[in-house]
Amino acid sequence: MIYDIVTIFPEFFRGPFEHGILRRAQEEGLIEIRLHDLRNYTTDKHRTVDDRPFGGGEGMVLKPEPLFTAVESLLSDQTMEKRARTAIVLLSAQGRWFHQSVAQTLAEQERVVLLCGRYEGVDERVAEHLATLELSIGDYVLSGGELAAAVVVDATTRLLPEALGDERSVVEESFTAHPEARISAGGILDCPHYTRPADFRGHQVPEVLLGGDHEEVRRWRREKALAKTRRNRPDLLARARLTKEERALLDKLDS
Ligand code: SAM
Repeated sequence: MIYDIVTIFPEFFRGPFEHGILRRAQEEGLIEIRLHDLRNYTTDKHRTVDDRPFGGGEGMVLKPEPLFTAVESLLSDQTMEKRARTAIVLLSAQGRWFHQSVAQTLAEQERVVLLCGRYEGVDERVAEHLATLELSIGDYVLSGGELAAAVVVDATTRLLPEALGDERSVVEESFTAHPEARISAGGILDCPHYTRPADFRGHQVPEVLLGGDHEEVRRWRREKALAKTRRNRPDLLARARLTKEERALLDKLDS
């Protein structure tokens, strides 16, 4: 998988990609992250990337030309076949919500180009005629698309086969629908996790996790995942496909 990040601040990414899974994925050749300075795709001597908005108003807007030129130049050697497996993503507070299933779709691409906005935003023609996807990482306004791009790279990479040592750790995570509904309702939050010490300042690890009864532990985890989802994200619960057992666990929580 190749990520191309187009930004006016390439140095912003020194750090976020140099640790843990992302670092290993690069070292093992699973992913390649290419940083591109948008100013390299300008044609004037001041390397101008922004201009005032038509219609007046505060702030500056990223011009369309450098972004179009950047993407066209990055993808110029692509065959039609490869182009079909390339996503051109504009990071934008006005975009479609980035959630786990979008990360999954992106993880199936060969190449993901990420366009980072700044200032008041990006000339709308980029969203309309260049990007294949306009993505928001949440309902808040960031100063630029760089943090959002890093979020997309991270969430997408960990879904690549071989990125995590243990495949089950992806399958059992929050928001992930497991094909075997027996194991997980799918699309709800993960269960709570604990590690040593069993007693931390008087706060005990739940007894069931110490007992070694795998079936009991499995049932307890499903119950806690359901309880946590009901408490923090009832919207997910409303959409989840629950098994009979999970419905019974929910009824038990309600009673
Ligand atoms: N005027 C824009 C608005 O109100 O929607 C906000 C522009 S913001 C200050 C500058 C850039 O940050 C955007 O062009 C986008 O690339 C990025 N950005 C801001 N919030 C974002 C979000 N929630 N998700 C993804 N990108 C975001």
